[in-house]
Amino acid sequence: MSDTVARSLYERARRVIPGGVCSSTRLNRALDRPFIAARGEGCRVVDVDGREFLDLCCGHGAALLGHGHPAVSAALRRAVELGHLCAFETEYTGALAERLCRLIPCAERVRFTGSGTEATMHAVRLCRGYTGRDKILRIEGHFHGYHDILYIGGHPPAGELAANRRQPYRESAGIPAAMAEFVVPLPFNDLEAAAAALERHAEEACCLILEPVNFNSGGLLPEPGYLAGLRELCDRAGVLLFFDEVQTSFKDSPGGAQQDFGVTPDLCTIGKSLGGGLPLSAICGRAELMDRFKPVGDVQHSGTFNAPLPSVLAALAFLDEVERPGFYESLRAAGERLIAGLAELARRHEVVLQTPRHGARMGLVFDCPGPLRRYDDVLGHNVERLLAFIRAAHERGVYFHDYGGAPCHHGWSIAHSPADMDEALDRLDGAFATVR
Ligand code: PMP
Repeated sequence: MSDTVARSLYERARRVIPGGVCSSTRLNRALDRPFIAARGEGCRVVDVDGREFLDLCCGHGAALLGHGHPAVSAALRRAVELGHLCAFETEYTGALAERLCRLIPCAERVRFTGSGTEATMHAVRLCRGYTGRDKILRIEGHFHGYHDILYIGGHPPAGELAANRRQPYRESAGIPAAMAEFVVPLPFNDLEAAAAALERHAEEACCLILEPVNFNSGGLLPEPGYLAGLRELCDRAGVLLFFDEVQTSFKDSPGGAQQDFGVTPDLCTIGKSLGGGLPLSAICGRAELMDRFKPVGDVQHSGTFNAPLPSVLAALAFLDEVERPGFYESLRAAGERLIAGLAELARRHEVVLQTPRHGARMGLVFDCPGPLRRYDDVLGHNVERLLAFIRAAHERGVYFHDYGGAPCHHGWSIAHSPADMDEALDRLDGAFATVR
């Protein structure tokens, strides 16, 4: 397989962009370079060497409509007609917030941000401003963006889990040691640990933040009663319950995991697919809490690029699509075909693979035969087999991102039909044969 053009563009980019990538994790370890895309349409992307791939990364969960969806393209043309209107409120910002308040259970107010990282950063400031407390209870294996507040204690290396609970692990150089003092890491799916921490830190903790489905450790699901249990414990302790739905939002319903699991947090962050593939995230929550944002209250949240018109119009188009009857039935039908097909291929090739799933996203966890309840359970997954599988899939025209070899998340879009999934499975048959 020739990747001459990609290799040469990558070499050139490395001279002017650190590592040749604009997002550190965009280097795909399985390919030993980033995927350099030329164009996309529906469920397919074509790379700069002219090869076509079925895309099972889907913009890390942002491309839930696939690539180049006509409704999103029409929204972009409308933004051009209106003159882009940089840094203004428009009639569309209010309209979008109204629709989100109707769809998302905890949303009585909405504030828009660009990335999910910005959303969680400002949302934590809101929690701190509202409660007057600084500590954050968080869950190991969960991810909430790259800022100094929460890029701590989430993904400690294997062997450092016990140390992480004494001294939360800073996940990047440059994060001051003092920031770790504010973070209390807890195991997922463990109500006893949460109860003990909430009792111990009730006077100091502003919120308990978690991914309701832990996609950033391979799609680990909350056990029955866990989210409801956290709701009760947080109420009792007077600590805000914060669902980071940047990944889970819109994946299985318009209301997100809080609708899917029937537990309403005090606030949530949403993002990724919200902008129909354009940058847009949001903080949603109870009115009394959200009205602590300036200019009503005293918590600052501002930005030149908050709610840019092209993203807002694309988001309105996105919501039209997800609210269309049959949208989630189609998304589920394609997903079920893929998941069942992967299970069958794994069985036939005698490969131990689990694909925990919620909505249109799933994990690929190799060689962990036991139940997958929390971060510790996936730490022993087979990194080499995962990377070999992704490499073999790429050679056969199926694109998965590698996330540095971590068990993370992969997924599909409304543009993936059951026939496309059959085609992907045909191509993946050989990839399973390679890694068995
Ligand atoms: N929270 C969660 C749960 C996420 O999955 C992500 C992105 N993977 C983020 C926050 C950060 O979002 P962004 O990449 O848009 O900054």
